[in-house]
Amino acid sequence: MSHNIYYRKTMIEFNKIKSIFDTHSSFIITSHVNPDADAIGSELALCYYLKSLGKSVRIINFSETPAYLNFLDEENLIEHFKETLHAEAILKSEVILVVDLNQLSRTMEMEKHIRKSKAALMCIDHHENTEKFSEDLFVDIEYTSTGEIVYELLASDSSYKMDYKAALNLYAAIMTDTGSFKYDRTSSRTHRIAAHLLELGVNPRETHNKIYDQGSKGKLQLLGRALSSFSCEGNGKIGIMTITKKDIGETKTVEADIDGFINHCLTVSGVVIAIFFVEIEDGIKISFRSIGNIPVNKLAGEFGGGGHFNASGARFPNGKLDEIKLKVIEAAKKYIIE
Ligand code: 5GP
Ligand code: MN
Repeated sequence: MSHNIYYRKTMIEFNKIKSIFDTHSSFIITSHVNPDADAIGSELALCYYLKSLGKSVRIINFSETPAYLNFLDEENLIEHFKETLHAEAILKSEVILVVDLNQLSRTMEMEKHIRKSKAALMCIDHHENTEKFSEDLFVDIEYTSTGEIVYELLASDSSYKMDYKAALNLYAAIMTDTGSFKYDRTSSRTHRIAAHLLELGVNPRETHNKIYDQGSKGKLQLLGRALSSFSCEGNGKIGIMTITKKDIGETKTVEADIDGFINHCLTVSGVVIAIFFVEIEDGIKISFRSIGNIPVNKLAGEFGGGGHFNASGARFPNGKLDEIKLKVIEAAKKYIIE
């Protein structure tokens, strides 16, 4: 199946990616800290594909795979980065393929090893404002997800037969990054891809259930705390939620459990910017969302972060929550269009 049948031009040269694959034999795949289903699903689908081409492939991530995504990694292929175990491998690999990130710093402690490595560094991603960390950046922000790009890459190879395992991973990637097929970039093409993935055996109800409806009691209680913390600024246009270390500790939850909470801020009439502050182990994580023509990736960029036009984030390795909140909320007010 060629991507051309979708009547869409892509900026990504799949041939070029394919020729990098064809001319090398050892690959390391990685993605961002606190990986989501798009990161994990894209990594695994690429890994299966490269293995089918006879390549040696390792997936090494800075963060452990969150428990709710373990079902995607049936064979336990994903390794959790440890300097003593992996620094050498990163240095010696022929190719390092990073997916679903636009700044190498999002690989955290792995960044310095990746920069030191003589490996050919390549990136497949769908975020804006990519850091030029390589000559081989395959980025197109028109795509809903990295998974959708990976699907088209794999579909462009007529000798590759996609199987259920790869289909499940790509479905999870696309479903989550489209907000279950509702965000703006969701297209008829996205649905055609999803249709093909269902034909390969993916069960949409079961996949959705595994990702969204298998949380702990603590996760629901944490959501309760986040919702109770809700307040507005900027004449009701900025919706704010906060979760502290104490909240996470008392509900026995982990950082990955907060995924998706921020969307509740946008269910309040009048709110066009959502900001979610989370105190994590090593600092403060902020998520931003917006409705319409408000570039929260620029707002996140003011604090060293980035992401998409309407969904972005930033991390502060240190600093006081209250002071950071004040600063970020003040900065956000500039983005409100009266
Ligand atoms: P989330 O709020 O779901 O963690 O992230 C939303 C979007 O912002 C994601 O697409 C993610 O890639 C991006 N993002 C989140 N945190 C950071 C960050 O610290 N730096 C950059 N560059 N992007 C981020
Ligand atoms: Mn993504």
